[in-house]
Amino acid sequence: MKLIRYYNLILPIVIVASILLINACNKESSYSVEKTSNRPFKKLKPTEPSDNSNAPIFDSTEHVIIVVVDGPRYADTWESPGTTLIPYRKALSKEGALCASFYNNGSTVTVAGHTAITTGIYEILNNTGAQTPSFPSYMQAWRKTFSQPANKAWIVASKDKLEVLKNCTDAKWKDVFNPNANCGNEGLGTGYRDDIVTLNKAKEVLALHTPNLMLVNFKQPDMAGHSGDSLAYVQGIIDSDNHVKQLWDFIQSNKHYKNKTSMIITNDHGRHTSGHLDGFISHGDDCAGCRHIEFLALGPGFKKNYISTTAYSQIDIAPTIAYLLGFKMPFGNGKVMKDLLEE
Ligand SMILES: [Zn+2]
Ligand SMILES: [Zn+2]
Repeated sequence: MKLIRYYNLILPIVIVASILLINACNKESSYSVEKTSNRPFKKLKPTEPSDNSNAPIFDSTEHVIIVVVDGPRYADTWESPGTTLIPYRKALSKEGALCASFYNNGSTVTVAGHTAITTGIYEILNNTGAQTPSFPSYMQAWRKTFSQPANKAWIVASKDKLEVLKNCTDAKWKDVFNPNANCGNEGLGTGYRDDIVTLNKAKEVLALHTPNLMLVNFKQPDMAGHSGDSLAYVQGIIDSDNHVKQLWDFIQSNKHYKNKTSMIITNDHGRHTSGHLDGFISHGDDCAGCRHIEFLALGPGFKKNYISTTAYSQIDIAPTIAYLLGFKMPFGNGKVMKDLLEE
């Protein structure tokens, strides 16, 4: 009897205890499942900054405009006392990167200098416009890579002979992917025109065709230098500085270009060092005055208020543009001007 009573008493206790234990186990297991399923998910979910850490950082450069001021000496631009002849470029340099050791290391004349800039290769060419470069320009390479039409890349120049820059003789690149050209009075063989006409044409083309690439040539420092009139040469440098400023203001006041456009200001060659041969009047040899030229770059991707003393030269421009816009130059051994680019 006593045993039965004992069982009657103990059984409900065992059952209740078992139910409580099972419930406790269920709670513990459901808690631990919840815990382990959540934590790894949170850890594996990529965060925005680490996900984008390897993305290109120059994606906002969509347009590149090169302005070639024809033939001033570095001594008369960035090295002139107080930089008085290029006040606008001096002011713009606060927003950009200046290379203080930039050179034409090839033939220091107009067609060859421009060719080194556009193709990334130094070569000796007829300087009258009778010969096209041997290798394709960055404009041809860009057009081919991105299947872009001719009106998205332009050469706009005061000197008619610079129309030769649009083509080359390489068998695979001749007559294909050429940029548009608007040079001289009415094209190759028609003579030079005033820089103000070129400035207005450049603005017109930018507004009408919205090109991604443009090379502009202002002739006046070189033209006036050859005339032997030192005051006209000085005025030519001052005027072309004004044209550079107008072009940059046009870009920055245009919704299509503002903050998406890089502008490079450089020269095709300098002029003889003062005291060497006829000084500022001529150019074409390897004296320091002919070789040392300017390079200022403004826009997305370039450092601000920065002066580089790393030595670069004209053949480095094309690969730098290719790097900024994400394509490869098919020829050339120039280097990307990384010292001037934001990291
Ligand atoms: Zn020139
Ligand atoms: Zn010289």
